[in-house]
Amino acid sequence: MPFGSIVGHHSTIASLQTAVSRQRLAHAYLFHGDNSIGKRTTAVSFAQALNCDSAEPTRIDGCGVCRSCQQIEARTHPDYFVIEPDRELATPQIKIEQVREIEQQIVYRPLIGERKICLIDDADRLTISAANALLKTLEEPPDHSLFLLITSRPASLPVTIRSRCQSLRFATPARTDVEAALILKREMPPSDARLLAMISEGRLGEALSTDLKQVRAEQQELLELMSPDSLRSITTLLAAAESVAKADRATELLSWLARWIRDLVIIQVGGDRDQLLHLDHVPVLERYARQAQTDALLSVLSDIDHTLRQATRHLNLQMALENILFRLRDAIMTSVPQPVS
Ligand SMILES: [Zn+2]
Repeated sequence: MPFGSIVGHHSTIASLQTAVSRQRLAHAYLFHGDNSIGKRTTAVSFAQALNCDSAEPTRIDGCGVCRSCQQIEARTHPDYFVIEPDRELATPQIKIEQVREIEQQIVYRPLIGERKICLIDDADRLTISAANALLKTLEEPPDHSLFLLITSRPASLPVTIRSRCQSLRFATPARTDVEAALILKREMPPSDARLLAMISEGRLGEALSTDLKQVRAEQQELLELMSPDSLRSITTLLAAAESVAKADRATELLSWLARWIRDLVIIQVGGDRDQLLHLDHVPVLERYARQAQTDALLSVLSDIDHTLRQATRHLNLQMALENILFRLRDAIMTSVPQPVS
């Protein structure tokens, strides 16, 4: 993909293009920033720009269609290597063997391109021995070599590696940029694009691959659960907590509850309505916002955040979910008598 098709990251890309045009490249770059916002896409575009076959001296972008650009995209280019952890494993790691294998290749001159390029995705997953092996190469990199390290957790990389790389921080793209990209690439109506852009919080990669139907179904489920009839019925809340927890969807429902509460609080404090997720349901939200206690809502919200952070360790998500649903019910339905315990 040429640089021009990337969503956001304009100044980062401009600095890479300047480096390409002046032929003043570092031997190693560290691209860091949130997950799924375009770091790897940019790295691939960078590799294409450097090894593109279209012979223009002022070239600062890959054409995307020549053999070299296509081979880089398909990871079959003989001068382009990708190292990444096996993400199927419980603890994905980049092993020393993977680094050694590439190092044996990278010392030789490029076969067809200008540079030998090694992209290391999720570089924070390097084992200590793999990181040490890589460090040796980064300390004395072959002239024609370029390493592109990508991570969303730069602090987890050894300082010695980070100090050998030119660091480029990727900011999360604006919601409007993600919306525009969804409308263009997925041909979505603006209201759907808005919903996905908000839920993905700027992570375009996620927004592009999310199943819209499923998201709409989840939203509908949340709205039904938050209807006055459901909230009044303890049986309904208990049944919902049980079925959601059994289907391993507790964290998903908790995230929806958190977004719903945020909408209520935005209305209560007179915040920017453009920030509302459930923009099509404002009258309902307003009714709840009038009767709910902000402090109690914020307290439930912080509980949800805490539960989500502990979710992998949490022994009983069903119980946590029940507790949060009851507290939320108390916060917004003050006229409903407290359940007898
Ligand atoms: Zn090309």
